Amino acid sequence: MRAAVISDIHANLPALEEVLARVDAAAVDEIWCLGDVVGYGAQPDRCAELVRERCEITLVGNHDLAVLGELDISAFSSVAAAAVDWTIENADGGTIEFLRRLEPVGSRAEVGLFHASPRDPVWEYVLSIEQAEDCLEIQSQRVGLIGHSHVALYFAIPEPSDREPLGAQAGNGTLLDLGSGKWLINPGSVGQPRDGDPRAAWLELDTGEWTARYHRLEYDIDRAAEAIVAAGLPQHLADRLYVGH
Ligand code: ZN
Repeated sequence: MRAAVISDIHANLPALEEVLARVDAAAVDEIWCLGDVVGYGAQPDRCAELVRERCEITLVGNHDLAVLGELDISAFSSVAAAAVDWTIENADGGTIEFLRRLEPVGSRAEVGLFHASPRDPVWEYVLSIEQAEDCLEIQSQRVGLIGHSHVALYFAIPEPSDREPLGAQAGNGTLLDLGSGKWLINPGSVGQPRDGDPRAAWLELDTGEWTARYHRLEYDIDRAAEAIVAAGLPQHLADRLYVGH
């Protein structure tokens, strides 16, 4: 199975369209989405429609749950909360219905799928090796995929187990050999990268060869930013797309 893994689209339609075009060119078997289809960006309905049409499995993320009214947003930043309110007012019923059917955890082709982490699928930002070790201990699958932090990275507990656990951010073109050990892999964010690289992120996973390759690609940031401003969303949400934070 060759799968394209996407996450954290956040209603950024130009970024999603660019990624899907590249995914089509790669001729993968399936597309898996790790959640946060909406929130922050200005085009939730078309993004939800594309994800519903194109992805074999889609998880629900914390921003999606907030829009559904199923999550306390007191921990959200003011701009994130403003985007939740905007999305509640502007998303159509079909988008809400689609999101309501989704779960924050899943699995596909022996791979564990979690929006945030194996031990806390909605909230935990896995950014340290210590956290990843704890998560991998309870992860039943050998390979797991996470989103949520918007940082393209990976963690591994190698085999044999006397070797040190490892973790690193992963730039464009990074190729992982997943043939042994336990893994936790974040593809990065399609619609709002926060790892200093503003390009849209996706991951190509091969569960036959057990390899993963990170991809970043340029998209029309102006188009996404202009849509955010035109929608009356906070200017900061447009500006941050250019810096990838
Ligand atoms: Zn997110």
